[in-house]
Order: sequence, then structure tokens, then C-alpha cells
Amino acid sequence: MADYQLFIDGELCDSSDGDTFATYNPATNEKIADVAKATKDDAVRAITAARKAFDEGPWSKMSGPDRAAKLREIAAKINEHSAELAELEALDGGGTIRKAMMADVPGAANAFEWFARMAEERPDEIQLDGSPFPISENYVRHEPIGVCTGIVPWNFPLIMASWKIAPAIAAGNTSVLKPATFTSLTALKLGQIIAECDLPPGVVNVIAGPGGTVGEELASNPMVDKTAFTGSTEVGRRIMQLASGTVKGCTLELGGKSANIVLDDADLDQAAAAVLWGTFMHGGQVCESGTRALVQRGIYDEFVSLLADRAGKIQLGDQLDMGTDLGPLVHRSQVETVARYVALGREEVGEPITGGSSPDAMPGNLVAENFFQPTIFADVDNSTKIAQEEIFGPVLCVIPFDSDDDAVAIANDSIYGLGGGVQSGNLDRAKAVAAQMRTGTVWVNDYHLIDPARPFGGYKQSGVGRELGVQGYEIYRQVKHVHVNPETSGRDNHFHYALLSGNI
Ligand code: NAD
Repeated sequence: MADYQLFIDGELCDSSDGDTFATYNPATNEKIADVAKATKDDAVRAITAARKAFDEGPWSKMSGPDRAAKLREIAAKINEHSAELAELEALDGGGTIRKAMMADVPGAANAFEWFARMAEERPDEIQLDGSPFPISENYVRHEPIGVCTGIVPWNFPLIMASWKIAPAIAAGNTSVLKPATFTSLTALKLGQIIAECDLPPGVVNVIAGPGGTVGEELASNPMVDKTAFTGSTEVGRRIMQLASGTVKGCTLELGGKSANIVLDDADLDQAAAAVLWGTFMHGGQVCESGTRALVQRGIYDEFVSLLADRAGKIQLGDQLDMGTDLGPLVHRSQVETVARYVALGREEVGEPITGGSSPDAMPGNLVAENFFQPTIFADVDNSTKIAQEEIFGPVLCVIPFDSDDDAVAIANDSIYGLGGGVQSGNLDRAKAVAAQMRTGTVWVNDYHLIDPARPFGGYKQSGVGRELGVQGYEIYRQVKHVHVNPETSGRDNHFHYALLSGNI
């Protein structure tokens, strides 16, 4: 039996062929657990269970408040298991235990709470006034879509799983979720927690397995009505193609290369903190990281030396230690990707002003090659590859600008549009800049703060649709218009007779 099993049709189970894969602590390369590796057959079984649960009920026919009660039970159980979930999240993905305790676990519970509220508060039916057709009643019904699949990346597995499952089931859909192979433990643990909450079998299914087989099935199977994907823009394009076969609804949350604009009236101390936190939180393995700091020329030199000085104080270490600021990257392969981009940056821009490699050594059994130092390139031209491509690691590009209009033009000169920041002492000026940024979220004098009650998503190639907020709930509901002619007899009262000159 695998240490972590799949959750299909209300049962925890091994994969159909009994295969497993091992998952490792990236700080030490020590094995954590064997995970059941789902096959394509398991994916079909999970989708079939979700289809049956949706079509036969009772979940899809329950009232919003009844579903909300179950979501709140899941949120409470997440909080009950918070210590275990936080440790597992940190151990499996390399993020710090502080992040897991302060962001990941409460973020997951809060998502279930928020969507419970949506299920209670959002109306299922809305009457429409003012029909051009006489004596008709018109109303809109909001109905669940059906079977919703979710495919998530490795950087925030627990929160991402919750962002997919919670809105789907709150709205009366059924769900099949696939986490990424590097970090599937907390999503599978969430499956176990949901198993304790006695939802009807098949309402939630969680399967870990390869994107190329299991993921493709979730995005293409005709029994699936909607697929929600978070991951790279490259795979997002593939998901859109796969979903197009049966014209499924598609929500895509993709990559980013967000600009954090520092205006010359900013409090430099506060702005430096916002830029460093905006880039190096979780080693820059965050989709909306502000990996391009756009700094106005008047303050440029002073600000850049402040950044270099402070970045050198970021403490690398064991992610389970409360004193650690930055753990290992998720996997050695990610360190190699980052190192390739840093080498490219040396060619394109020159020597970074700080960092630029893995540390020479780390204490105890920590594997130095799995870590990467916070790295800053200054005087970067926005047209370089390191300023245009998503590195997904602890690498900041600092780019000078002259006027607010220049800053906006540079910020918008990107295929992405996911996040962004404006640091300024003048809120009107900051808001005017924020209004012109073509991006899904802008933080003024802040960064990274995401709340389930606020919509999140991307412009341009950063995505399609929104998660969270009211929008992130409504995107999981169909809209049906019902037109009722209350006259149950009498030809003269019927509009279509008039249109066809009474010949029918
Ligand atoms: P990825 O695109 O490689 O993988 C994401 C998920 O898709 C994984 O579960 C993977 O197994 C699956 N997958 C891979 N190929 C597939 C295929 N052909 N069909 C179906 N599924 C497939 O991304 P990653 O490396 O896990 O994560 C990093 C990326 O995620 C970055 O680009 C980052 O910006 C993005 N991301 C975006 C957001 C957002 O909200 N916009 C949030 C987090 C991460």
C-alpha cells in the first residue's frame, strides 16, 4: 500500500497497477514517502465517479447553505490538522514552515470558508424586469456546470488544490483534482481530510500522477465540463487545445513577469522591503512575484545599494526551522533552470550585484546544490531574456526609468500580466499608475497579499478567467435564462404567431 493514496469515489485507494513514485525533501534529498501514481484508467475512474455524483445527486441538487455547511466542516478540519499540513507542505516543497503556517494552511481553510459564504449568499435565481415581450416573466438561473477538473503546479500545492476544489463544490459541481508530482502530499492529505467529512462519494476526487497521461485525460475527457488549470503558460496552451475538443470551459492561471514600480517619492526603506519580499518570498517560485523592479532614476543608485545590502541578509536554511527566510528550491532541476538563466544574465547584463549561485556549503545534512542565493541584476534592459522570460527562482532584474509614463510602458512591455506593485508616498499618483498597468492585480505599497474574497488572475498570456472573489465563484456556474409566458392558452397572446402571419 502506498503511504499516500488516491481518493476516488469516496475511497482511499492505490493506483490501478499498484505503481508508486517517491517524493523527497529537497533540503536533504531524503525520501519522505511513496505516493500512489495514478494511471489514465484511474483518471477515467475518478471522472466517471464525479460524473455519476453530479448526474445522480444529491450534491448538485442540494441547497447552497447545505453545501456551505460541508465546506465549513472541511475548513475546520484543515485547521485541526494545521500543524501536520504545515510540516508536510514545507517538507515536500521546500517552502519555509513560517510560510506554511502563516499562508498555506490558513489560505486553504479561508478558501473553503469564502466559498461557503458564496454558496450561502449568491442567489440561484434572479428575476429580470422590462421584457420587450408583453406579459412574460423572465428570470436567470445560476446552475452548476457539472464535472470540473483541476490541475495544479508544485509551488503552492495546498492552496492551489483548495482554490480548485472549494469553488467547484460550493457551486454544486463535482471535482477531480491533480497535484504536481514534485509536491502532491498535501493535496492527497486534503483528500483524506475530505474523506472524513462524509461528502457523497465522487463529489471530490484527488489523484496524483503524470501531466502527460493523467493531466491530459482530465483536460480532454468528454465527461468533463470544465477544466481549471494553474501552471506554466506553455502547458496552459496545451490545456486550451485539449479542452477545445469538447468545447469545455477553461480557467487558466499561468506564468508571470510582474513589475514592481518604485516611484521617486516612495519611502525607500518600505519600498525595499516590498521589492525584496515581492521577489524572494518562496525563492521567487511564485507566479505573481515582482521579478522586475522598475526604479525611478532620481533614487536609483541609493535604492539599488539598499536592495543589495538587504538581500545579503536573507537567511537560507532548513525550511523547517522557524528562523529560515528561504529554503531550498523545489527540486535540483529548478536550481539548474535558475542557474542557466543567471548564466544568460551574465552574458546579457553582466555580473549580478549580489548572489548568482548556489551557496558553497550549507550546515548539517542540507544539500547546498539544492539552494540558490537571492540574486539581483542591476541596470537591466527590459528587452533582455532575463527581463522577459519567467525564471521562477530568486532572481530580480532592476530596471531604471525616467517618468511615470515610462514606468507604465516598461511594465506593460511583457507577454504576461499577472501581478504588479507601485511603491509611492503619493496614493493618487500610485493609483494613476496602477490604473494603466495591464495586469490582474496591483499592490500599492505592498506585495503578494492575496485574499480569497478578492479576484485573482491574469491579463494577456497570464491567463483566462478569475479565481477567488465573487467572480471566482460565478465562473463555476452556468447561466440559464428562462422566459415564461403565463398565458397557457389562446393564440393571440403568443408572439411567434404574430411573427409568422398566423400561418402556423
Ligand atoms: P507546469 O505547467 O509544468 O505543470 C502544472 C501542472 O500541469 C502539473 O500538475 C503537471 O503535472 C500538469 N501538466 C503538465 N503537462 C501537462 C499536460 N500536457 N496536460 C495536462 N497537465 C499537464 O507548471 P509547474 O512547473 O508545476 O509550475 C510552475 C508554473 O506555474 C509557473 O509558470 C508559474 O507561473 C505557474 N503558476 C501560476 C499561478 C497563477 O495563479 N497564475 C500560480 C502558481 C504557479
